Amino acid sequence: MRIVLKGIGASRGMTLGRARLVQPSQFLVDETRLEPNEIDAEATRLEGALETARAELKVIRAKLHGALAREIGEFIDAHSLLLSDPELVSGLFDLVRRGRYRASAALKMQRDRLAAVFEAMDDPYLRSRREDIDHVIGRVQAALSRETSPAERQIAARVGTILVSDQIAPAEMTHLAEQGVLGTVCTGSSPLSHSAILSRSMRLPMVVGAHDALAQIHDDDLVMIDGEHGEVVVHPTAQDLARYRQHARDMQREGQRLAQLAHAQTLTACGTSMRLYANAELPAEVAQARAHGAAGIGLYRTEFLFLQRHHLPDEDEQFHAYRDLVLGMGGLPVTVRTLDLGADKADTTGLALTREPNPALGMRGVRLSIRRPALFATQMRAILRASAYGPIRVLVPMVSRAEEIRATRRLMEICARDLRSEGHEIADHFELGAMVEVPAAAIALPALIRLVDFVSIGTNDLVQYTLAADRNNDAVSDLYDPLHPAVLRLLSDTIRCGEKAGKPVCLCGEMASDTTFTPLLVALGLTDFSMHSGAILEVRDALARCDRTRLRRLAPRLLKAESHDEIAALLAGANRGNLRSRASS
Ligand code: PEP
Ligand code: MG
Repeated sequence: MRIVLKGIGASRGMTLGRARLVQPSQFLVDETRLEPNEIDAEATRLEGALETARAELKVIRAKLHGALAREIGEFIDAHSLLLSDPELVSGLFDLVRRGRYRASAALKMQRDRLAAVFEAMDDPYLRSRREDIDHVIGRVQAALSRETSPAERQIAARVGTILVSDQIAPAEMTHLAEQGVLGTVCTGSSPLSHSAILSRSMRLPMVVGAHDALAQIHDDDLVMIDGEHGEVVVHPTAQDLARYRQHARDMQREGQRLAQLAHAQTLTACGTSMRLYANAELPAEVAQARAHGAAGIGLYRTEFLFLQRHHLPDEDEQFHAYRDLVLGMGGLPVTVRTLDLGADKADTTGLALTREPNPALGMRGVRLSIRRPALFATQMRAILRASAYGPIRVLVPMVSRAEEIRATRRLMEICARDLRSEGHEIADHFELGAMVEVPAAAIALPALIRLVDFVSIGTNDLVQYTLAADRNNDAVSDLYDPLHPAVLRLLSDTIRCGEKAGKPVCLCGEMASDTTFTPLLVALGLTDFSMHSGAILEVRDALARCDRTRLRRLAPRLLKAESHDEIAALLAGANRGNLRSRASS
């Protein structure tokens, strides 16, 4: 039966695939008792699921050859034996027939009982085999929950996988596309999580906050995700599939239209020139940035060099990554942000403190780098060495006080001096920038700006810290509001402060890539945007519809507005104006 689950769209696009649940051992069971007339049918379902699980194991066993057959075969045999174990099986049927439990509840009860027996064992080897129980029962649960029709199974066999999970770690995200994953659904997470940011750069549709997904979707169900509207359709109908095909056609047409803007100048409707930079973290993004006519890399998140491994990348490894980035951009400026581990970018290297009570307010970004001078110097040397291959500048994350900028500049100067005396050919001069993502930095910017060469606004964090609303917690997603008057005030002050000091200000948070915010940012005076490269053409297109002169005149009213709604209404009016000016042009 068709089910529609509502969540929040975190990465646009529609996709169709076979569900793969990531927590099969998390049993969500129906504990209501069976009516007497339901017992026989439920016992038959259970028998069928046990048979399917046994048959699956047989197929896996038959496919194993050589060393694999020796190593894994033993486990598969143990699982097959467990599945036929008379005590386990008769216990299950007893629970259904006499206890009137549903099959899934009976499986859960048997699992809990056997797990307790294994855990009480003295022998550590036997104790560790309780995992086998989880695997075997999990396999039967999965078989039990597969209630797809033969026709649906036929379609599902031809499409890829949709991962359904509670949340996905950023490091895992980067591998999903290689594993044939076409989209993701999370019960938790938020559109501002780093996994969602990555998902958008990888153009993998994603829906987050779909609370019931793990309960309502089963392995192998055919699932359609609409990342635009935050919708997950389980067992889509012919009408849904037609909508999916229409969407694919529309996307193709829109892609062809936007492709013509790839090498166009970025101009507003009134002819002001704007700059669009790319955010990057994966090597593939560099090629896309150039293909879409980016003015350079506005934000290179270096933590992804650290996230995907279990040891720290040394100076040479980092140098090669930064050098390739600079070479890849063919002379366009590249902004490398120093390490910003911490909070949801939890690392696998053991660098960040793991047991902080409030990680987002803890040892993150430049705070961690200053605490680990050797690590900071290694990264700084690697960045400066890459300057021999093209323009590169250094950006510092999570700045909240002047001393953090001074300490970074001191380190930069020491590293540059050492590298020159070691015979490295590096640039004569290096630009240092600060991220404005902590309200203190925005408020104290008139003093801080003297210490830097440029500023980059990180709205993902600036909004979360200004409004005390965790960007990763969907329970407070309604409080995470980029159109809050306080956020507008900080954005406007930061942009004006840069203008007065004659220092460039770029905005590299997700607001830059969302075209609903483009008129607002133009109204506040922003001219430099940095976004995942997939959004560059759309933003260029949106800017071409913005009458900057008229929008700038709206700024005082936007800044006087007292609520989100008032701001949204002013922007809606401006948008209508833009549409009119487009129609008349
Ligand atoms: C930001 O906070 O807006 C930003 C660009 O940094 P990150 O998303 O990596 O924290
Ligand atoms: Mg940030």
